[in-house]
Amino acid sequence: TVNAPLFQFDNSYARDLPGFYVAWEGAKVPAPKLVLFNRKLAEELGLDGAALETPDGAAIFAGLKCPDGASPLAQVYAGHQFGGFSPQLGDGRALLVGEIIDRAGKRRDIQLKGSGPTPFSRGGDGKAVIGPVLREYIMGEAMHALGIPTTRALAAVTTGETIYREGPKPGAVLTRIASSHLRVGTFQFFAARGETSKVRQLADYAIARHDPDLENEDDRYLKLFSRVMERQARLIAHWVLVGFIHGVMNTDNTTISGETIDYGPCAFLDTYDPAAVFSSIDHGGRYAFGRQPVIAQWNLARLAEAILTLIDPDDIDKAVERVSEELGRFPDLYKTAWLAGMRRKIGLETVQSDDLPLTEDLLSQMQAQKVDYTQLFRNLADAATGDEKALRKQFEEQEGINVWLKRWKDRLQRETTTSDKTRDAMNRVNPVYIARNHKVEEALEAAETGNYEPARQLMDVLATPFTEQPGMDAYSGPAPVEFGPYKTFC
Ligand code: AMP
Ligand code: MG
Ligand code: MG
Repeated sequence: TVNAPLFQFDNSYARDLPGFYVAWEGAKVPAPKLVLFNRKLAEELGLDGAALETPDGAAIFAGLKCPDGASPLAQVYAGHQFGGFSPQLGDGRALLVGEIIDRAGKRRDIQLKGSGPTPFSRGGDGKAVIGPVLREYIMGEAMHALGIPTTRALAAVTTGETIYREGPKPGAVLTRIASSHLRVGTFQFFAARGETSKVRQLADYAIARHDPDLENEDDRYLKLFSRVMERQARLIAHWVLVGFIHGVMNTDNTTISGETIDYGPCAFLDTYDPAAVFSSIDHGGRYAFGRQPVIAQWNLARLAEAILTLIDPDDIDKAVERVSEELGRFPDLYKTAWLAGMRRKIGLETVQSDDLPLTEDLLSQMQAQKVDYTQLFRNLADAATGDEKALRKQFEEQEGINVWLKRWKDRLQRETTTSDKTRDAMNRVNPVYIARNHKVEEALEAAETGNYEPARQLMDVLATPFTEQPGMDAYSGPAPVEFGPYKTFC
Protein backbone atom coordinates (compact mmCIF):
# COMPACT_ATOMS: atom_id res chain seq x y z
CA THR A 1 0.00 0.00 0.00
CA VAL A 2 1.06 3.58 -0.58
CA ASN A 3 1.60 5.50 2.66
CA ALA A 4 -0.30 8.75 2.88
CA PRO A 5 1.98 11.68 3.72
CA LEU A 6 1.98 12.44 7.44
CA PHE A 7 1.21 16.12 6.85
CA GLN A 8 -0.70 17.78 4.02
CA PHE A 9 1.47 20.86 3.94
CA ASP A 10 0.53 24.10 2.26
CA ASN A 11 3.45 26.39 3.01
CA SER A 12 2.31 29.94 2.26
CA TYR A 13 5.09 31.66 4.21
CA ALA A 14 7.82 29.84 2.32
CA ARG A 15 6.02 30.37 -0.98
CA ASP A 16 4.83 33.99 -0.68
CA LEU A 17 7.52 35.64 1.42
CA PRO A 18 11.00 34.96 0.06
CA GLY A 19 13.43 37.27 1.85
CA PHE A 20 11.53 36.92 5.12
CA TYR A 21 13.32 33.79 6.25
CA VAL A 22 16.24 31.46 5.75
CA ALA A 23 15.55 27.89 4.61
CA TRP A 24 17.11 25.73 7.28
CA GLU A 25 17.14 22.29 8.85
CA GLY A 26 17.15 20.84 12.34
CA ALA A 27 20.33 19.72 14.07
CA LYS A 28 21.31 16.07 14.05
CA VAL A 29 20.41 14.74 17.48
CA PRO A 30 21.33 11.28 18.79
CA ALA A 31 18.21 9.72 20.29
CA PRO A 32 14.81 11.37 19.80
CA LYS A 33 12.17 10.13 22.19
CA LEU A 34 8.56 11.25 22.23
CA VAL A 35 7.68 12.05 25.83
CA LEU A 36 4.37 13.91 25.43
CA PHE A 37 1.95 13.87 22.54
CA ASN A 38 -1.31 15.77 22.28
CA ARG A 39 -3.64 13.30 20.59
CA LYS A 40 -6.68 15.51 20.82
CA LEU A 41 -4.90 18.38 19.11
CA ALA A 42 -3.49 16.03 16.46
CA GLU A 43 -7.04 15.00 15.66
CA GLU A 44 -8.20 18.63 15.49
CA LEU A 45 -5.38 19.22 13.02
CA GLY A 46 -6.48 16.28 10.91
CA LEU A 47 -3.25 14.39 11.58
CA ASP A 48 -2.86 10.65 11.97
CA GLY A 49 -1.98 10.44 15.68
CA ALA A 50 -1.14 6.74 15.56
CA ALA A 51 1.33 7.31 12.74
CA LEU A 52 3.00 10.14 14.63
CA GLU A 53 3.22 8.44 18.00
CA THR A 54 6.09 6.39 16.62
CA PRO A 55 9.89 6.57 16.38
CA ASP A 56 9.32 8.20 13.00
CA GLY A 57 7.18 10.87 14.61
CA ALA A 58 9.79 11.38 17.35
CA ALA A 59 12.48 11.95 14.71
CA ILE A 60 10.25 14.51 12.97
CA PHE A 61 9.39 16.34 16.20
CA ALA A 62 13.08 16.44 17.12
CA GLY A 63 13.95 18.11 13.82
CA LEU A 64 16.10 15.13 12.84
CA LYS A 65 13.85 14.05 10.01
CA CYS A 66 12.16 16.37 7.56
CA PRO A 67 8.65 15.15 6.73
CA ASP A 68 7.53 14.98 3.10
CA GLY A 69 6.21 18.29 1.83
CA ALA A 70 7.80 20.38 4.58
CA SER A 71 9.80 23.52 3.82
CA PRO A 72 11.57 24.14 7.12
CA LEU A 73 12.72 27.70 7.66
CA ALA A 74 13.83 30.17 10.30
CA GLN A 75 11.86 33.43 10.29
CA VAL A 76 13.54 36.78 10.68
CA TYR A 77 12.20 39.44 13.01
CA ALA A 78 13.32 42.31 15.22
CA GLY A 79 11.94 43.50 18.52
CA HIS A 80 12.01 45.80 21.49
CA GLN A 81 13.35 43.76 24.39
CA PHE A 82 12.70 45.40 27.76
CA GLY A 83 12.29 48.68 25.89
CA GLY A 84 15.51 48.55 23.85
CA PHE A 85 15.40 47.86 20.12
CA SER A 86 17.21 44.81 18.72
CA PRO A 87 17.22 45.23 14.92
CA GLN A 88 17.71 41.52 14.31
CA LEU A 89 16.38 38.65 16.39
CA GLY A 90 14.67 35.92 14.42
CA ASP A 91 14.20 32.23 15.08
CA GLY A 92 17.43 31.48 16.88
CA ARG A 93 16.30 28.07 17.98
CA ALA A 94 13.09 27.45 16.11
CA LEU A 95 12.03 26.13 12.72
CA LEU A 96 8.76 26.61 10.95
CA VAL A 97 8.29 23.12 9.53
CA GLY A 98 5.28 24.07 7.46
CA GLU A 99 1.60 24.95 7.51
CA ILE A 100 -1.43 22.74 7.41
CA ILE A 101 -5.14 23.42 7.12
CA ASP A 102 -6.93 22.00 10.16
CA ARG A 103 -10.29 20.23 10.27
CA ALA A 104 -12.08 23.54 10.74
CA GLY A 105 -10.37 24.94 7.63
CA LYS A 106 -7.98 27.12 9.62
CA ARG A 107 -4.34 27.53 8.61
CA ARG A 108 -1.96 26.49 11.39
CA ASP A 109 1.83 26.72 11.67
CA ILE A 110 3.81 23.73 12.87
CA GLN A 111 6.95 24.98 14.56
CA LEU A 112 9.78 23.22 16.34
CA LYS A 113 11.40 25.07 19.24
CA GLY A 114 14.83 23.90 20.36
CA SER A 115 15.75 22.26 17.06
CA GLY A 116 19.29 23.65 16.84
CA PRO A 117 21.17 26.79 15.85
CA THR A 118 20.17 28.93 12.87
CA PRO A 119 21.71 32.02 11.27
CA PHE A 120 19.71 34.01 13.87
CA SER A 121 21.11 32.30 16.95
CA ARG A 122 23.45 35.17 17.89
CA GLY A 123 25.47 33.71 20.80
CA GLY A 124 22.90 31.01 21.60
CA ASP A 125 23.16 27.24 21.17
CA GLY A 126 19.81 26.92 19.42
CA LYS A 127 18.68 24.30 21.90
CA ALA A 128 16.05 23.91 24.57
CA VAL A 129 15.93 21.76 27.68
CA ILE A 130 13.11 19.70 29.09
CA GLY A 131 12.05 22.07 31.90
CA PRO A 132 11.19 25.13 29.78
CA VAL A 133 9.79 22.91 27.00
CA LEU A 134 7.40 21.35 29.48
CA ARG A 135 6.52 24.69 31.02
CA GLU A 136 5.47 26.00 27.61
CA TYR A 137 3.54 22.79 26.94
CA ILE A 138 1.70 22.87 30.26
CA MET A 139 1.01 26.61 30.31
CA GLY A 140 -0.19 26.76 26.72
CA GLU A 141 -2.57 23.87 27.15
CA ALA A 142 -3.80 25.30 30.48
CA MET A 143 -4.48 28.67 28.85
CA HIS A 144 -6.35 26.98 26.01
CA ALA A 145 -8.54 25.09 28.48
CA LEU A 146 -9.30 28.42 30.15
CA GLY A 147 -10.58 29.68 26.81
CA ILE A 148 -7.67 32.06 26.17
CA PRO A 149 -6.20 32.47 22.66
CA THR A 150 -2.81 30.78 22.64
CA THR A 151 -0.34 28.74 20.69
CA ARG A 152 -0.78 25.04 21.42
CA ALA A 153 1.55 22.17 22.20
CA LEU A 154 1.46 19.14 19.92
CA ALA A 155 4.48 17.20 21.14
CA ALA A 156 7.54 17.23 23.35
CA VAL A 157 10.58 15.08 22.61
CA THR A 158 13.85 14.60 24.37
CA THR A 159 16.81 14.48 22.02
CA GLY A 160 19.28 12.28 23.88
CA GLU A 161 21.64 15.23 24.23
CA THR A 162 22.83 16.80 27.45
CA ILE A 163 22.56 20.58 27.38
CA TYR A 164 24.17 22.82 29.96
CA ARG A 165 21.98 25.48 31.54
CA GLU A 166 22.12 25.74 35.35
CA GLY A 167 23.87 22.38 35.25
CA PRO A 168 23.45 19.49 32.80
CA LYS A 169 19.87 19.04 31.53
CA PRO A 170 18.12 16.75 29.05
CA GLY A 171 17.84 18.41 25.64
CA ALA A 172 14.28 18.69 24.32
CA VAL A 173 12.22 20.09 21.48
CA LEU A 174 8.67 21.45 21.62
CA THR A 175 6.35 21.20 18.64
CA ARG A 176 3.97 24.10 18.81
CA ILE A 177 0.99 25.06 16.73
CA ALA A 178 0.07 28.67 16.04
CA SER A 179 -2.44 30.39 13.83
CA SER A 180 0.70 32.19 12.62
CA HIS A 181 4.07 33.28 13.96
CA LEU A 182 3.69 36.86 12.71
CA ARG A 183 4.91 39.22 15.40
CA VAL A 184 4.98 42.98 15.90
CA GLY A 185 8.71 42.44 15.62
CA THR A 186 8.33 40.97 12.11
CA PHE A 187 6.94 44.32 10.93
CA GLN A 188 9.61 46.19 12.86
CA PHE A 189 12.42 44.30 11.17
CA PHE A 190 11.57 45.55 7.68
CA ALA A 191 10.31 48.98 8.76
CA ALA A 192 13.58 49.68 10.61
CA ARG A 193 15.54 48.83 7.46
CA GLY A 194 13.41 51.09 5.32
CA GLU A 195 12.22 48.11 3.26
CA THR A 196 8.78 49.53 2.67
CA SER A 197 7.77 47.10 -0.05
CA LYS A 198 8.50 44.22 2.32
CA VAL A 199 6.42 45.84 5.07
CA ARG A 200 3.60 46.07 2.53
CA GLN A 201 4.04 42.47 1.45
CA LEU A 202 3.95 41.39 5.09
CA ALA A 203 0.85 43.48 5.83
CA ASP A 204 -0.91 41.98 2.79
CA TYR A 205 0.08 38.52 3.94
CA ALA A 206 -1.17 39.21 7.48
CA ILE A 207 -4.47 40.51 6.13
CA ALA A 208 -4.93 37.49 3.89
CA ARG A 209 -4.23 35.21 6.80
CA HIS A 210 -5.97 36.90 9.73
CA ASP A 211 -8.31 39.56 8.39
CA PRO A 212 -9.26 38.54 4.85
CA ASP A 213 -12.42 40.67 4.98
CA LEU A 214 -10.15 43.76 4.81
CA GLU A 215 -8.48 42.69 1.58
CA ASN A 216 -10.29 45.15 -0.69
CA GLU A 217 -10.41 48.11 1.67
CA ASP A 218 -8.42 51.20 0.64
CA ASP A 219 -7.36 51.84 4.22
CA ARG A 220 -6.68 48.19 4.95
CA TYR A 221 -3.31 48.71 6.63
CA LEU A 222 -4.71 51.11 9.20
CA LYS A 223 -7.64 48.76 9.68
CA LEU A 224 -5.23 45.86 10.19
CA PHE A 225 -3.65 47.88 12.97
CA SER A 226 -7.04 48.36 14.62
CA ARG A 227 -7.80 44.64 14.40
CA VAL A 228 -4.50 43.71 16.02
CA MET A 229 -5.17 46.26 18.73
CA GLU A 230 -8.63 44.86 19.42
CA ARG A 231 -7.28 41.32 19.63
CA GLN A 232 -4.50 42.36 21.99
CA ALA A 233 -6.92 44.29 24.21
CA ARG A 234 -9.10 41.22 24.57
CA LEU A 235 -6.10 38.96 25.10
CA ILE A 236 -4.57 41.04 27.88
CA ALA A 237 -7.98 41.32 29.57
CA HIS A 238 -8.17 37.51 29.49
CA TRP A 239 -4.72 37.26 31.06
CA VAL A 240 -5.50 39.68 33.85
CA LEU A 241 -8.87 38.06 34.58
CA VAL A 242 -7.23 34.69 35.26
CA GLY A 243 -4.18 36.15 37.01
CA PHE A 244 -1.64 35.31 34.30
CA ILE A 245 1.68 37.13 34.03
CA HIS A 246 3.44 36.62 30.71
CA GLY A 247 6.79 37.84 31.98
CA VAL A 248 8.45 38.88 28.67
CA MET A 249 6.08 41.14 26.77
CA ASN A 250 8.70 42.18 24.24
CA THR A 251 7.41 43.24 20.82
CA ASP A 252 8.85 40.04 19.32
CA ASN A 253 6.58 38.12 21.68
CA THR A 254 3.48 40.08 20.65
CA THR A 255 1.47 38.35 17.94
CA ILE A 256 -0.57 39.76 15.08
CA SER A 257 -3.05 36.90 15.58
CA GLY A 258 -3.82 37.84 19.19
CA GLU A 259 -2.59 34.52 20.51
CA THR A 260 -0.42 34.23 23.61
CA ILE A 261 3.05 33.18 22.50
CA ASP A 262 6.46 32.30 23.96
CA TYR A 263 5.80 31.06 27.44
CA GLY A 264 9.08 31.75 29.18
CA PRO A 265 9.30 33.01 32.73
CA CYS A 266 5.50 33.21 33.04
CA ALA A 267 3.39 32.41 36.07
CA PHE A 268 -0.06 32.64 37.61
CA LEU A 269 -0.66 34.85 40.62
CA ASP A 270 -1.39 33.35 43.98
CA THR A 271 -2.36 36.45 45.97
CA TYR A 272 -3.69 39.40 44.05
CA ASP A 273 -0.97 42.02 43.55
CA PRO A 274 -0.60 44.37 40.56
CA ALA A 275 3.13 44.69 41.30
CA ALA A 276 3.72 40.92 41.11
CA VAL A 277 6.80 39.88 39.11
CA PHE A 278 8.12 36.33 38.94
CA SER A 279 10.65 36.54 36.15
CA SER A 280 14.28 36.41 37.21
CA ILE A 281 15.21 38.73 34.33
CA ASP A 282 12.60 41.45 34.95
CA HIS A 283 14.59 43.51 37.43
CA GLY A 284 12.69 46.77 36.96
CA GLY A 285 9.23 45.20 37.05
CA ARG A 286 8.56 46.43 33.51
CA TYR A 287 6.33 43.40 32.88
CA ALA A 288 4.64 43.26 36.30
CA PHE A 289 1.11 41.83 36.43
CA GLY A 290 -0.65 45.19 36.54
CA ARG A 291 1.52 46.81 33.86
CA GLN A 292 0.50 44.37 31.12
CA PRO A 293 -2.20 46.60 29.58
CA VAL A 294 0.12 49.62 29.45
CA ILE A 295 2.89 47.53 27.93
CA ALA A 296 0.54 46.06 25.33
CA GLN A 297 -0.40 49.59 24.29
CA TRP A 298 3.28 50.53 24.09
CA ASN A 299 3.95 47.49 21.91
CA LEU A 300 1.05 48.44 19.65
CA ALA A 301 2.54 51.92 19.25
CA ARG A 302 5.62 50.18 17.83
CA LEU A 303 3.38 48.30 15.38
CA ALA A 304 1.68 51.58 14.47
CA GLU A 305 5.06 53.15 13.64
CA ALA A 306 5.93 50.23 11.38
CA ILE A 307 2.59 50.31 9.58
CA LEU A 308 2.74 54.09 9.10
CA THR A 309 5.80 53.59 6.88
CA LEU A 310 3.27 52.34 4.28
CA ILE A 311 1.38 55.58 4.08
CA ASP A 312 1.91 57.95 1.20
CA PRO A 313 3.67 61.21 2.28
CA ASP A 314 0.64 63.20 1.11
CA ASP A 315 -1.62 61.32 3.51
CA ILE A 316 0.74 60.87 6.42
CA ASP A 317 -0.54 63.68 8.69
CA LYS A 318 -4.08 62.37 8.56
CA ALA A 319 -2.92 58.80 9.03
CA VAL A 320 -0.81 59.68 12.05
CA GLU A 321 -3.78 61.45 13.56
CA ARG A 322 -6.04 58.50 12.92
CA VAL A 323 -3.62 55.94 14.32
CA SER A 324 -3.00 58.08 17.41
CA GLU A 325 -6.72 58.26 17.98
CA GLU A 326 -6.98 54.52 17.54
CA LEU A 327 -4.17 53.88 20.01
CA GLY A 328 -5.91 56.22 22.41
CA ARG A 329 -8.88 53.84 22.38
CA PHE A 330 -6.79 51.00 23.75
CA PRO A 331 -7.23 51.73 27.47
CA ASP A 332 -10.98 51.85 26.99
CA LEU A 333 -11.09 48.70 24.88
CA TYR A 334 -9.06 46.90 27.49
CA LYS A 335 -11.08 48.22 30.41
CA THR A 336 -14.36 47.31 28.74
CA ALA A 337 -13.23 43.74 28.06
CA TRP A 338 -11.82 43.43 31.56
CA LEU A 339 -14.90 44.83 33.29
CA ALA A 340 -17.20 42.59 31.25
CA GLY A 341 -15.12 39.65 32.45
CA MET A 342 -15.11 40.91 36.02
CA ARG A 343 -18.90 41.23 35.97
CA ARG A 344 -19.12 37.58 35.00
CA LYS A 345 -16.62 36.65 37.70
CA ILE A 346 -18.73 38.24 40.43
CA GLY A 347 -22.03 36.97 39.07
CA LEU A 348 -23.45 40.04 37.36
CA GLU A 349 -25.30 39.76 34.07
CA THR A 350 -26.68 43.26 33.86
CA VAL A 351 -24.63 46.42 33.57
CA GLN A 352 -24.85 49.06 36.33
CA SER A 353 -22.89 52.25 36.73
CA ASP A 354 -21.33 51.28 40.07
CA ASP A 355 -19.97 47.90 38.93
CA LEU A 356 -16.46 49.23 38.45
CA PRO A 357 -15.98 50.62 42.00
CA LEU A 358 -17.63 47.49 43.39
CA THR A 359 -15.09 45.32 41.57
CA GLU A 360 -12.15 47.55 42.42
CA ASP A 361 -13.04 47.56 46.11
CA LEU A 362 -13.03 43.78 46.19
CA LEU A 363 -9.62 43.70 44.53
CA SER A 364 -8.12 46.21 46.93
CA GLN A 365 -9.35 44.19 49.89
CA MET A 366 -7.91 41.05 48.35
CA GLN A 367 -4.60 42.82 47.88
CA ALA A 368 -4.48 44.26 51.39
CA GLN A 369 -5.23 40.90 52.98
CA LYS A 370 -3.20 38.78 50.56
CA VAL A 371 -6.15 36.69 49.43
CA ASP A 372 -5.69 33.90 46.88
CA TYR A 373 -6.98 35.35 43.60
CA THR A 374 -8.28 32.10 42.09
CA GLN A 375 -9.90 30.61 45.18
CA LEU A 376 -11.64 33.84 46.12
CA PHE A 377 -13.99 33.80 43.14
CA ARG A 378 -15.01 30.18 43.74
CA ASN A 379 -15.66 31.06 47.39
CA LEU A 380 -17.70 34.02 46.24
CA ALA A 381 -19.83 31.75 44.06
CA ASP A 382 -20.73 29.74 47.16
CA ALA A 383 -21.47 32.96 48.99
CA ALA A 384 -24.00 33.79 46.28
CA THR A 385 -26.14 30.95 47.65
CA GLY A 386 -25.54 31.91 51.29
CA ASP A 387 -22.53 29.70 52.07
CA GLU A 388 -19.96 32.28 53.20
CA LYS A 389 -17.70 30.07 55.30
CA ALA A 390 -14.86 29.54 52.82
CA LEU A 391 -14.96 33.15 51.70
CA ARG A 392 -14.66 34.50 55.24
CA LYS A 393 -11.73 32.23 55.94
CA GLN A 394 -9.76 34.07 53.26
CA PHE A 395 -9.89 37.34 55.20
CA GLU A 396 -8.12 37.78 58.49
CA GLU A 397 -10.05 40.98 59.14
CA GLN A 398 -13.77 40.59 58.54
CA GLU A 399 -14.96 44.17 58.69
CA GLY A 400 -14.07 45.26 55.18
CA ILE A 401 -15.37 42.14 53.51
CA ASN A 402 -18.60 42.36 55.54
CA VAL A 403 -19.29 45.80 54.17
CA TRP A 404 -18.39 44.65 50.67
CA LEU A 405 -20.58 41.54 50.86
CA LYS A 406 -23.54 43.66 51.84
CA ARG A 407 -22.98 45.92 48.80
CA TRP A 408 -22.54 42.92 46.54
CA LYS A 409 -25.74 41.26 47.79
CA ASP A 410 -27.64 44.50 47.26
CA ARG A 411 -26.23 44.59 43.76
CA LEU A 412 -27.26 40.96 43.14
CA GLN A 413 -30.81 41.99 44.11
CA ARG A 414 -30.84 44.05 40.94
CA GLU A 415 -30.18 40.89 38.87
CA THR A 416 -33.18 38.92 37.65
CA THR A 417 -31.79 35.42 38.03
CA THR A 418 -31.83 32.96 40.97
CA SER A 419 -28.89 32.57 43.35
CA ASP A 420 -28.29 28.99 42.19
CA LYS A 421 -28.02 30.17 38.63
CA THR A 422 -25.68 32.96 39.66
CA ARG A 423 -23.41 30.49 41.45
CA ASP A 424 -23.36 28.15 38.44
CA ALA A 425 -22.62 31.00 36.05
CA MET A 426 -19.75 32.14 38.27
CA ASN A 427 -18.36 28.61 38.42
CA ARG A 428 -18.34 28.46 34.65
CA VAL A 429 -15.93 31.41 34.38
CA ASN A 430 -13.88 31.14 37.58
CA PRO A 431 -11.42 28.23 37.42
CA VAL A 432 -10.91 25.88 40.34
CA TYR A 433 -7.55 24.92 38.88
CA ILE A 434 -4.83 27.07 37.42
CA ALA A 435 -1.24 26.01 36.73
CA ARG A 436 -0.04 26.61 40.28
CA ASN A 437 3.62 27.51 40.42
CA HIS A 438 4.62 24.77 42.85
CA LYS A 439 2.74 22.16 40.86
CA VAL A 440 4.39 23.24 37.61
CA GLU A 441 7.79 23.17 39.30
CA GLU A 442 7.09 19.68 40.68
CA ALA A 443 6.19 18.46 37.19
CA LEU A 444 9.31 19.99 35.62
CA GLU A 445 11.62 18.58 38.27
CA ALA A 446 10.20 15.08 37.83
CA ALA A 447 10.54 15.37 34.06
CA GLU A 448 14.24 16.15 34.43
CA THR A 449 14.63 12.69 35.95
CA GLY A 450 12.56 11.09 33.19
CA ASN A 451 9.29 10.89 35.12
CA TYR A 452 6.44 12.50 33.17
CA GLU A 453 3.61 11.28 35.40
CA PRO A 454 3.34 14.50 37.47
CA ALA A 455 3.19 16.53 34.23
CA ARG A 456 0.48 14.26 32.79
CA GLN A 457 -1.51 14.39 36.05
CA LEU A 458 -1.27 18.16 36.19
CA MET A 459 -2.35 18.57 32.58
CA ASP A 460 -5.22 16.17 33.13
CA VAL A 461 -6.52 18.35 35.97
CA LEU A 462 -5.94 21.57 34.03
CA ALA A 463 -7.81 20.26 30.97
CA THR A 464 -11.16 20.87 32.75
CA PRO A 465 -10.31 23.81 34.98
CA PHE A 466 -13.86 24.86 35.83
CA THR A 467 -14.97 21.48 37.14
CA GLU A 468 -14.17 20.32 40.65
CA GLN A 469 -12.45 16.97 40.45
CA PRO A 470 -12.66 14.66 43.45
CA GLY A 471 -9.36 13.95 45.18
CA MET A 472 -7.58 16.81 43.40
CA ASP A 473 -7.50 19.37 46.24
CA ALA A 474 -3.71 19.43 46.08
CA TYR A 475 -4.04 21.22 42.73
CA SER A 476 -6.45 23.94 43.80
CA GLY A 477 -4.56 25.74 46.56
CA PRO A 478 -1.67 28.19 46.72
CA ALA A 479 1.90 27.01 47.23
CA PRO A 480 2.78 25.93 50.76
CA VAL A 481 4.88 28.47 52.67
CA GLU A 482 7.95 26.23 52.38
CA PHE A 483 7.84 26.78 48.61
CA GLY A 484 9.05 30.33 49.27
CA PRO A 485 9.06 33.26 46.85
CA TYR A 486 8.79 32.04 43.28
CA LYS A 487 11.31 32.89 40.57
CA THR A 488 11.03 31.80 36.96
CA PHE A 489 13.83 31.40 34.44
CA CYS A 490 13.85 31.33 30.63
P1 AMP B 1 12.67 34.72 23.74
O1 AMP B 1 13.07 35.60 24.88
O2 AMP B 1 12.63 33.28 24.11
O3 AMP B 1 11.39 35.15 23.13
O4 AMP B 1 13.82 34.82 22.64
C1 AMP B 1 14.37 36.03 22.21
C2 AMP B 1 15.31 35.76 21.06
O5 AMP B 1 16.42 34.96 21.49
C3 AMP B 1 14.71 35.02 19.90
O6 AMP B 1 15.28 35.52 18.73
C4 AMP B 1 15.13 33.59 20.15
O7 AMP B 1 15.15 32.82 18.97
C5 AMP B 1 16.52 33.78 20.72
N1 AMP B 1 16.95 32.67 21.58
C6 AMP B 1 16.47 32.35 22.80
N2 AMP B 1 17.12 31.28 23.28
C7 AMP B 1 18.03 30.88 22.36
C8 AMP B 1 19.00 29.84 22.26
N3 AMP B 1 19.19 28.96 23.24
N4 AMP B 1 19.76 29.77 21.15
C9 AMP B 1 19.60 30.65 20.16
N5 AMP B 1 18.70 31.65 20.17
C10 AMP B 1 17.92 31.77 21.26
MG1 MG C 1 10.27 35.04 21.69
MG1 MG D 1 11.67 31.98 25.31
